[in-house]
Amino acid sequence: MPELPEVETVRRGLEPLVVGRRVLEADSHPSTKFLAAREVVGARLEGVDRRGKYLLLPLDDGRRLVAHLGMTGGFVPGSAPSADPYVRAWWRFDDGSHLSFRDVRRFGRLAVVDEDLSSLPTLAALGPEPFDPAFDDDHLWQALRRSSVRVKTQLLSQRPVAGVGNIYADEALWRAGVHPGTRRVSRPAAARLRQAIVDVLAEGIADGGTTLRDYRAVDGGEGEHQHRLDCYGRAGLGCRRCGAVLRRTVVDGRGTTHCPTCQRR
Ligand SMILES: [Zn+2]
Repeated sequence: MPELPEVETVRRGLEPLVVGRRVLEADSHPSTKFLAAREVVGARLEGVDRRGKYLLLPLDDGRRLVAHLGMTGGFVPGSAPSADPYVRAWWRFDDGSHLSFRDVRRFGRLAVVDEDLSSLPTLAALGPEPFDPAFDDDHLWQALRRSSVRVKTQLLSQRPVAGVGNIYADEALWRAGVHPGTRRVSRPAAARLRQAIVDVLAEGIADGGTTLRDYRAVDGGEGEHQHRLDCYGRAGLGCRRCGAVLRRTVVDGRGTTHCPTCQRR
């Protein structure tokens, strides 16, 4: 599933293609998850923002088009509506170009919201952006200690910080030396974890994201970060820090990899 670095890479690819374009025509799959694509006809796209794993495209009428890529969603530019059965929505712009939203498994979603985000509670409840100064050591420590839920599950909840999913959670916890199943994180460990989250997400963005299966950038290219993962997907291989064999476990239902030596409970 695309996490913050993948969504940010899509955002950067989308921006030069759609900003300033007015939507002249649109169509969508009849599912309520994609119908909102049609509501933006007549509006001009004024930007491409990101909040956590959501893309938010402000419109010139004050509303915003929101896109969540789900597991397999992505944007494909330039292609007129075609027989591709996985195109769930498309838009035609005033310069004659097209943009399609393609989503094989249909866990993605499109919505149109006004200033009030309450119609999308998961978006309204997101924690701070990792690169925002509000996401400091004290914030993360306070957020984690308010709950006795396992630290990895807290990260995946998007409440301590927005944008971290399974891949970057495993990477950040490994780098910080924090056990994914722990229910109590000390203040120094929270500080290490905050820095690790910021670093792994920034490195993921610099690599254009992590492509394991479906994720593609807007230009169709794969990310590169899958070649630089230290922990996620490396169970059974040696820890790059200490040499111990990385272990696969399940934390609250999510497959998890950690180092039994570097990440003690
Ligand atoms: Zn280790």
